[in-house]
Amino acid sequence: MERSLAVLTSGGDAPGMNAAVRAVVRRALDCGFKVYGIYNGYEGLVSGGEAIRPLGWNDVGGILPRGGTFLGTARSERFRTLEGRRQAVRHLVTLGVDALVVIGGDGSLMGAHVLAEEWPSHVEALEKEGLLGELGKVPPSLDVVGLPGSIDNDLYGTDMSIGVDTALNHIVRAIDDLTSTAASHQRTFVVETMGRHCGYLALMGALGGGASWVLVPEEELDLRWHHKMIRAIEKARAIGRPHQMVVVAEGARHPDGLPIRTEELKKILADRLGIDVRVTVLGHVQRGGAPSAFDRILATRLGVAAVDALVQAGDRPLRHMIGLQKNRIHMTLLMEVVEKSQAVGQQIDQGAYREAQRLRGESFVRTLELFKTLTRIEPAAAMQGNGPVAILTGGADAPGMNTAVSIAARCLMNEGFPVVGVRDAFWGLIRGEFMMLEWNELTSWVNRPSSELGTVRHSLTEEDVQRVAETIEKHNIRGLIAIGGLGTYMNVTTLMHHMPELKALAIPMVLVPATIDNNLPGTEFTIGGDTALNNIVQDLDKIRHTAGATKRTFVVEVMGRQSGYLALMAALASGAEKAYLPEKGITLAELNEDVAVLRASFQCGKRMVLYLRNENASKHYTTDFIARLLEEESRGFYQVRTAILGHLQRGGVPSAFDRILASRMGSAAAQQMSTMLRQDQKEVLALGQKGGDLEVTPLQQVMEEMDVREGRPKRQWFLELSAMAETLAKHAPACSVAGSE
Ligand code: ADP
Repeated sequence: MERSLAVLTSGGDAPGMNAAVRAVVRRALDCGFKVYGIYNGYEGLVSGGEAIRPLGWNDVGGILPRGGTFLGTARSERFRTLEGRRQAVRHLVTLGVDALVVIGGDGSLMGAHVLAEEWPSHVEALEKEGLLGELGKVPPSLDVVGLPGSIDNDLYGTDMSIGVDTALNHIVRAIDDLTSTAASHQRTFVVETMGRHCGYLALMGALGGGASWVLVPEEELDLRWHHKMIRAIEKARAIGRPHQMVVVAEGARHPDGLPIRTEELKKILADRLGIDVRVTVLGHVQRGGAPSAFDRILATRLGVAAVDALVQAGDRPLRHMIGLQKNRIHMTLLMEVVEKSQAVGQQIDQGAYREAQRLRGESFVRTLELFKTLTRIEPAAAMQGNGPVAILTGGADAPGMNTAVSIAARCLMNEGFPVVGVRDAFWGLIRGEFMMLEWNELTSWVNRPSSELGTVRHSLTEEDVQRVAETIEKHNIRGLIAIGGLGTYMNVTTLMHHMPELKALAIPMVLVPATIDNNLPGTEFTIGGDTALNNIVQDLDKIRHTAGATKRTFVVEVMGRQSGYLALMAALASGAEKAYLPEKGITLAELNEDVAVLRASFQCGKRMVLYLRNENASKHYTTDFIARLLEEESRGFYQVRTAILGHLQRGGVPSAFDRILASRMGSAAAQQMSTMLRQDQKEVLALGQKGGDLEVTPLQQVMEEMDVREGRPKRQWFLELSAMAETLAKHAPACSVAGSE
């Protein structure tokens, strides 16, 4: 029997909801469901009629870049009543719907749970009243799947909700913009972020924006909290930075439970410090605009998983939320999600802050600790020992490198270790060229693009290694933190191999993965990858805007070296029809097939088709070759254009995700280094983020995960998303309705 599924978005809108609806609709159609879209959330479900419409493949075309939700969302008082929900059941039963996907916050998920629980009793009542007419078979139960859609990130059961990453990017960019005006006028700003009772946006925004102080609901404030804040601001000003940022979550409260108002903060700061203070309440700009690449990918992964869960559940009733935990799909019972999400508010009310933080998750707790450390640290009065730790940024530059340098250097200086920057990576080490790092200057590096230290691609020769050893000896370098890509990993490996004969090289070293290519071992994410991905996706959106009356295919070349990460993830986030990856290569047979698919796509109503090609997907089937081939085969039916995005991909300020990753890794690198120096260990370690956790592994061991000849790790987690990208972007299988994307 054909199953029917309905999907709705509810509660506050969140960027990425459209991507979730698209994924649910297309995956469900592929799995043989009949699909209905419910407009305006539960209100539409109660109203029925025009508010519930069938959705076809092309109805969800072209919606990936759009903010908000095309289905509309609403808060529904009628759905909160038994009568309202009975109407809702009646509409679903009439259409034969037995599966409902709800994208929203805890209230929306609660609504879904209640509906599923009450389903049999509503059906019975409707049958008794004769309101179901001659329906034949009535679904005995309703399967409900929730997807976390809320910019607040206050839902238990998922590390990230749909919309959070976009909101965070708005916040860090707003703080960047305010910082430049604050610096010009030597002002301090109080910035209020959204988040209801959750401090996630404020905390991550403060970290990514380089703020001096943050106030979140989950932290216990003592009665003299403003003294502490004033002292921190005073200290930061004394070190030499006249402008400061204080970030406050809208849910932050005094120890007595009363809300902390921005105007009150302004008064405290202005009165105590005699400084010029301005207030900016970021408000609804945080939830607006095109979703970030991460949100589109998250929403797509969750949407597909929701349908797969429905298919796999069989006869077992489904009442779960699908979330992402440690970068893996995870299902949690809706009731558990709702109870534990709401429990945080109750714990805060009862003063159980530790428990509230625990429920927010490990990453929240770790970040709060890191942020507090950053507000505490200052250059130590006395420096330890006589030689510095050197920090370099190697290979090609990656957005977020400066953030990592800034945090690592300040954490070390706080512990009394002198730190120097190496100019132009390994060249600087060969020539002995260093840069003094100054605390204040470092503070302003957190959001700077590129690398202030300079980067160079250079493979160390035997002679270079000798000179590096001389430099280390001459300048008494006691440790090295190397932030970079594969070339940097290879160079440090070379140094490590020479340690036995060149004693000067035997110093502790820590590698921090930073490259837009995401081709490094021991880590699922590298610093810079997220910014590059966003750059690519924004460019692809612009290319899509150029769709006109003429049918057109774009072959877009993206970076990534031997890793298909950027090409594949950009395809997933932009809805590109194809990604040519170096892991798979390109064959003539495949190109033949692509020509046929392309023609069919245009015949089925597409007006623009995007093919992405990683720069190294094939040696001979170049971007130009593929474009010419497709053009020749078009026989005038469509046009072909190419775009090579080139260095645009690596430019710009780092994204929120890259800043947070770089901050965490920078601080972990400093911690490892300081431990090794104190314990006189001389290991060479590499940092990585696997799942959600930071890991530290000996370089030698981590390099075993690498296929050095191919230039990428032997196992790449993202490849499992490749089938998903292709099946969602293909043309309408039934090919009946004209549309686009
Ligand atoms: P969010 O989903 O963002 O938390 P709300 O709390 O406003 O937003 O919930 C959205 C909608 O979900 C509400 O307007 C209501 O229709 C429905 N809802 C919320 N809680 C319940 C409940 N306990 N029972 C039934 N429906 C509910």
